[in-house]
Amino acid sequence: MTTRAVRCGTLFDGTGADPVRDAVVLVSDGRITSVGAVATTAIPSGAEIIDLRDRFVMPGLIDAHSHISIVPGMGDQIGQLRQAPVPQALRATANIRRDLFAGTTTMRVMSEENFLDLDVRAAIDAGVIPGPRLLCGARGITASNGHGRAFSAFDGVDEIRRGVRENFQRGADHAKIFMTGGVASTGTTLKACVYTREEIRAAVEEAERVGKYAAAHAHGGPGLRMSVEEGVATIEHGALATDDDIALMKERNVWLVCTFSIFLHPNGIEQGDGKNPAIMEKMRWARRVVDETFPRHLASGVRFAIGTDSVHGQMPFEMATLVRLGVAAKDALLAGTRWSAEACRVDAELGTLTAGKRADLIAIDGDPLKDIQAMRRVRLVMKDGVVQLTVMGGQEVVQGRDEG
Ligand SMILES: [Zn+2]
Repeated sequence: MTTRAVRCGTLFDGTGADPVRDAVVLVSDGRITSVGAVATTAIPSGAEIIDLRDRFVMPGLIDAHSHISIVPGMGDQIGQLRQAPVPQALRATANIRRDLFAGTTTMRVMSEENFLDLDVRAAIDAGVIPGPRLLCGARGITASNGHGRAFSAFDGVDEIRRGVRENFQRGADHAKIFMTGGVASTGTTLKACVYTREEIRAAVEEAERVGKYAAAHAHGGPGLRMSVEEGVATIEHGALATDDDIALMKERNVWLVCTFSIFLHPNGIEQGDGKNPAIMEKMRWARRVVDETFPRHLASGVRFAIGTDSVHGQMPFEMATLVRLGVAAKDALLAGTRWSAEACRVDAELGTLTAGKRADLIAIDGDPLKDIQAMRRVRLVMKDGVVQLTVMGGQEVVQGRDEG
């Protein structure tokens, strides 16, 4: 097996350590075998050199909350989920390619119909289509009258147990339960919760019994509170979490997964549902709320990760939004790498460039620690030690199969 030696102009390894100038990452069999300054790291003879001496190299981005089939800019997200599997699969193929080439090497999928994410993951892993490593939620657990409901619905403790168990039987990595209303639907409010305490507890129990975890879509109110009290691992969105809620999340080590792009980016809900006055009213209000609540959440010290929630290829925007809201650039980079890995429970394998972990890295033109907008200029993407994309002279060169 060939060793690849990635020469880095600047190496940001994601551990929190200061960046290292003139470094090298050695990769063999899809994993990192050694990392360090060139002066102190021996490059084996015969190693294939990947020359990134004019680049800023960092771990591949981890989008902690997205959906592969949805394009928010097309509007009516629930309608998209109700389409037949083929149009959904075609959209997903285009979406995840955009994500991968913008630097996302791992993506946590937070509900699809038809077990689409599991089949798409199999296609990526078989080399049929390019895409990030997918952490799959399979069908979202939502009530008949809940947010996020397309076809599947699960009412009562027994249906929830069956739904979660079947998702895991098919290969899901986590359970996603919709506890409160959402922005991109009419007829729900962000604090209203249709599930009971017993129902959320059932989802958590079924996940934990098989060594997995539950994630709750919850903006605020009793649905968010019950989710934390009953043991979910991550709160998705959480914009309306009160100081008390946040204090309890910290105490229980619950992650806050922020999703700003979906209602802040022009290609998000606004592009798709801008003509729906009820949705736009919620959007404008949500924007005001975030400007007020996120700085408080940040000051509390609650642990957070980030996701695009289907605004494909926009992890750089998500990170730039963090900086605009007061997060240090270094922490924005960590939020999109190591912290997201921890929130998604894949930090043993991913999230930092350290020996033993999977070789997922990206190269940036510029220094995102000085200017976060540099994150838009991804020039190389490596996943599992295989170069997926290089950009040379503005020309994208798609690779992806390991011929070595
Ligand atoms: Zn979502």
